[in-house]
Amino acid sequence: MKWLQNWLTRYQLHHHPVPHHIWRMLIHQAPLFHGLSAVEKAHLRELCTLFLQRKNFIGTQELAVTKEMTVAIAAQACLLTLKRSLDDYGGWSDIVVYPAAFKVNREVTDSIGLVSHEDSFLGGEAWSNGPVILSWETVKTDLTTPRSGHNLVIHEFAHKLDMLNGKANGMPPLPADMVRSEWTRAFSEGYESLQRQIEHRQRPAINAYAATAPAEFFAVCSEYFFTTPRHLQHAFPAIYKQLALFYRQDPLG
Ligand SMILES: [Zn+2]
Repeated sequence: MKWLQNWLTRYQLHHHPVPHHIWRMLIHQAPLFHGLSAVEKAHLRELCTLFLQRKNFIGTQELAVTKEMTVAIAAQACLLTLKRSLDDYGGWSDIVVYPAAFKVNREVTDSIGLVSHEDSFLGGEAWSNGPVILSWETVKTDLTTPRSGHNLVIHEFAHKLDMLNGKANGMPPLPADMVRSEWTRAFSEGYESLQRQIEHRQRPAINAYAATAPAEFFAVCSEYFFTTPRHLQHAFPAIYKQLALFYRQDPLG
């Protein structure tokens, strides 16, 4: 069946490419893609074409999800798999898009075991074997007026890669040529150092949200890796090196 899959891929790339005018505008507008070579941009467009064939976009609260929106989300998601495989996003299909941050009600347990329900607003979520949920307002801001180390789509899709071997815990499955102990050392030292900075009320080297859990640390480091690689390389050089091996990309190079 491999030939059938290859034929289908070629057919989709040829007959349903991401429309040229949408692609050109996105690549021109978003600084996130400016560092890519012409070959990488062309490959990213192909990945987006296949991603859009495989994923189902659902607008909520009467949000009409346009082709421009799906391409913008797809391009950022596929940046993580530019040198990996799009199959890393297999096993689920829905991307739910809210107009803005959405309210969730969660059960929280305090230090003495008291369980309560709390309302909070989220910009995004990634469910294990389930959908990715995004606030379009945040996605749009990340693209047009990016802030250092902030990119919601990269964050949620990094969680998806982390979930390839179970619950998100900051330890995704590594390519065969990577050394697990080097990953663990780099990430645990970085995580502990960030927690110490926060504890001692020092200015945190990266977004303090990263210190809430190892899974968040990995996702936030991935945001820096793609949006502000120099900052990550300066703050945590060992983590930069591990992420360059993991994503098979060197944004500083
Ligand atoms: Zn997260």
